[in-house]
Amino acid sequence: MAIEREEAIVLSRTRFGETSLLATLFTKNRGPLRFVVKGARRPRSRFGGRLEPTHHILAVYYRKEGRDLHLLSDADLLTSFSGLRGSLLRLAHAYAIIDALVGLKREETPAENLFRLALHALAAAETEPETALEAALWSFLLAALTDAGYRPELARCVRCGRDLRRSSARFDPRAGGVACAGHGEGGLLLSPGTIGILGGLATGTVREAPLSGREIAEGREAFRRFFEEHGLGRTPFRALDLLAPRARKG
Ligand SMILES: [Zn+2]
Repeated sequence: MAIEREEAIVLSRTRFGETSLLATLFTKNRGPLRFVVKGARRPRSRFGGRLEPTHHILAVYYRKEGRDLHLLSDADLLTSFSGLRGSLLRLAHAYAIIDALVGLKREETPAENLFRLALHALAAAETEPETALEAALWSFLLAALTDAGYRPELARCVRCGRDLRRSSARFDPRAGGVACAGHGEGGLLLSPGTIGILGGLATGTVREAPLSGREIAEGREAFRRFFEEHGLGRTPFRALDLLAPRARKG
């Protein structure tokens, strides 16, 4: 049993036994790992308040080789992202970020780049204007998918290479991205605004104007289908879908 000390992001936690917790942490060096946190629910536990989902912590733990449950012995809070908790919309965006992390990295694999992207995205969810949150989330999802080796093609037809950023297109997750009218049979129809935003994010240009309700709905559906088609775990919009009436305004 080896003792480890490294940065982590808290993904989730549930009650375990009388006084303990089970916590899933996204660790910088080993990706997602599950922990028993003994006594964490006792009054005056040293873990009190530190293991909230989205918290950035310094974790000290005993790693049991070949096991899928480890023992968390200490946690220092590095960043709480407390601004997320003043807004349901911001918090739902933060949950989309941590939900995406679960399926994008296998346990026991180094995750330094994805870890850095996630911290940056959580800070954006806390501080960007609310109208910019959706584009910031999509930008994170694209970067995270690219890091995991699943970069979707969003600017050009996957079959003929035609630039599609000013026309409507179909999104075909099995083919790996968008296709023009002549090559995209079936698949999800994306309006010119949506393909413009997605193609822009993929090529490093972000539109200033807020996204419309239709663009948000189409873009989320494209990511949802891509995550499902490639078996990338939980779809990252569960919490945001609960806020749908608000998010689709405009
Ligand atoms: Zn084409």
